Amino acid sequence: MRVGLGFDVHRFAVGRPLVLGGVVIPAEKGLLGHSDADVLVHALMDALLGALALGDIGDHFPDSEARYQGASSVKLLEEVCALVRNRGYRVHNVDLMILAEVPKLAPYKAAMIDLLAPVLGVTREDVSIKATTMEGMGFVGRKEGIAAQAVATLVPIEADGVKD
Ligand code: MG
Repeated sequence: MRVGLGFDVHRFAVGRPLVLGGVVIPAEKGLLGHSDADVLVHALMDALLGALALGDIGDHFPDSEARYQGASSVKLLEEVCALVRNRGYRVHNVDLMILAEVPKLAPYKAAMIDLLAPVLGVTREDVSIKATTMEGMGFVGRKEGIAAQAVATLVPIEADGVKD
């Protein structure tokens, strides 16, 4: 089994959609970024790449390239998952954490899991999404942006006898 860690931060900006885990969430502000700024999927992609020591999303999807302007992060996640498969691994499970003071995310976590599980090629039970505030402290607490953390485990496809 291989384990990867991901972390990302994006700043709030007016006039931008808020996309988290591929789900568009009604909010006063969205997140600033070259792509759709889906901070959760960015952290997840870095965890998947990290598990195979394949660098980070900046190496694979440089924001200097115009084709990633406004890119759907879920589309990029599909590319990362293809990379994982091509290396002979599959996702075992992921544990994702969103750090946000606003908006309240609990109503949207199930939709994020529904969207991400098939992209990752796992069941809903293999995708954990959690959300916390920062109790008013730090940049998240001051509502300047949203951070996300991710841990992913991968197992060799060859080990697929019985789904554990
Ligand atoms: Mg990012």
